[in-house]
Amino acid sequence: MRATQFLIATEKETPADAVVISHKLMLRSGMIRKLAAGLYTWMPLGLRTLRKIENIVREEMDRAGAQEILMPTVQPAELWEESGRWYQYGGELMRLKDRHNREFCYGPTAEEVVTDIARNNLSSYKQLPMNLYQVQTKFRDETRPRFGVMRAREFTMKDGYSFHANEESLQETYERMHEAYSRIFNRLGLDFRPVLADTGSIGGASSHEFHVLAESGEDDIAFSDSSDYAANVELAEALAPAGERPAASKELEKVSTPDVTSIEDVAALLNVATSDVLKAIVVRGTSEAEDAEEGEAGEPVVLFLRGDHQLNEIKAEKLPGVLSPLQFASADEVQKIGGVAGFTGPRGLSARVYVDRSAAHMADFVCGANETDAHFTGANWGRDVEEGTIADLRNVVAGDPSPCGKGTLDIKRGIEVGHIFQLGTKYSEALKATVLDENGKDRVMMMGCYGIGVSRVVAAAIEQNNDDNGIIWPDAIAPFHVGIVPMNMHKSEAVKEAAEKLYNELTEAGFEVYMDDRDKKTSPGVKFADMELMGIPHRVVISDRGLEAGALEYKHRSAEEKEEIAADNVLNVLK
Ligand code: ATP
Ligand code: MG
Ligand code: MG
Ligand code: MG
Repeated sequence: MRATQFLIATEKETPADAVVISHKLMLRSGMIRKLAAGLYTWMPLGLRTLRKIENIVREEMDRAGAQEILMPTVQPAELWEESGRWYQYGGELMRLKDRHNREFCYGPTAEEVVTDIARNNLSSYKQLPMNLYQVQTKFRDETRPRFGVMRAREFTMKDGYSFHANEESLQETYERMHEAYSRIFNRLGLDFRPVLADTGSIGGASSHEFHVLAESGEDDIAFSDSSDYAANVELAEALAPAGERPAASKELEKVSTPDVTSIEDVAALLNVATSDVLKAIVVRGTSEAEDAEEGEAGEPVVLFLRGDHQLNEIKAEKLPGVLSPLQFASADEVQKIGGVAGFTGPRGLSARVYVDRSAAHMADFVCGANETDAHFTGANWGRDVEEGTIADLRNVVAGDPSPCGKGTLDIKRGIEVGHIFQLGTKYSEALKATVLDENGKDRVMMMGCYGIGVSRVVAAAIEQNNDDNGIIWPDAIAPFHVGIVPMNMHKSEAVKEAAEKLYNELTEAGFEVYMDDRDKKTSPGVKFADMELMGIPHRVVISDRGLEAGALEYKHRSAEEKEEIAADNVLNVLK
């Protein structure tokens, strides 16, 4: 590529609304342009990197036995009604109507569509397992789109879905996907960690997130310093904006579970004085139909309000396993955080529980890395989207003992770039996706799902690879491998000739080359600055003086010093 033919969109000034470094550098280097909130155009430079990431993802998915498909971005409401998510998904789901007044949404994810494909195209257990994926645009009407493509509204996701005859098969594919994800993020040259994760609105039993470690990350990750244990300290990220928050206290009235039916029961259970317990309610599903206000039966989630307004005073060991997620917060505190509260599970797991009963948040009631023996001790609230309001409610701190029993916790910021779930039968049951088993009987398929935020990865990679002068691309995802700067090309035939020759040689050898052939109006200083900003890993400068000595100047983007190399040795240096 020649600069004179390329849509160069570099900018000197840092755009005012960019906060994180990747957003700043993506705008300044001309990778993206903003169209509207959370909507970005990928300019030629940015698209090159995006495509490289997509292709690495494709290669590893294919290698792991998945098959690529491409589903529509617009999805019919009927499928979402079948799964129940039409009413649960809330404001992030962009709903549309066609000219016949039929309802659709712009897909934020594709469990419903892919389950529909599976039920129509798979009939026998012999066809399983089946693993399908796509790389497709998604739309989520995020409350606060920010950080450029990191939290956009329209973005590129690789979403994969697997179908199984039994749990062992699901487990096997889940592990294979886990490995494939590690291969992908290694190939992308990222410093990442798989961590135990909450299953959020997608639901299901087991889940891991892949996080790129970076200060600008929106999640807190707790690591043991003496084992592989790592888990997401969930954030109250999906909080409704202040204006839309329900009056949480109205909901905080009832006590009802099969095991706990009174304040006294709660007090006895927790081994605290009755006066210490203000109120307790079931916030989702109970065994008694009239208490399951949303008509959802399910695991009881009990919210306890304690009189002393202390959180997490009660140690996990005191809680019997029957009451899985328990929550401790005062009415004031719940109000303060707008109806979202952390909970403490039987062994002290923290996560978020929504007290908000509006449809918008139904699906998010229960969250957390709720695995036996994999809980945080004393972990609690995440960081609020409005900094500071609930900061004082967090109580996992670096140095706490690790829940895995080994070592102490270290807390770092992470960017969620991938997320894998064992969905079980949540969607296949709702959509009646069955196959015939060995005995000729209908059997609901088990499912897994596997997402990678392909466009977010671009930003995450920049967060980890930059300096004062710009981006420093890892070779695998650099938009160009080599930049050539011919000095005084307009004056020197020798330089021009050598530059053209090198350009052709390198291109033929398979390198993607960017030659800055702009005329004398663009100074060498500007050319160097642009190349550094764009993050091109290798730079070769051709000058008359060098040519006379048979030498070129070479500099790796991350090296401090430039070096002289023999003009006929460039290929070896680059390899
Ligand atoms: P987050 O917690 O950041 O909102 P999520 O948990 O809602 O993400 P998933 O449903 O797990 O996202 O989707 C799979 C992947 O898609 C995520 O791991 C993330 O990398 C990416 N992703 C999700 N939302 C966005 C977004 N608004 N912009 C860019 N990428 C996103
Ligand atoms: Mg989200
Ligand atoms: Mg998440
Ligand atoms: Mg996720």
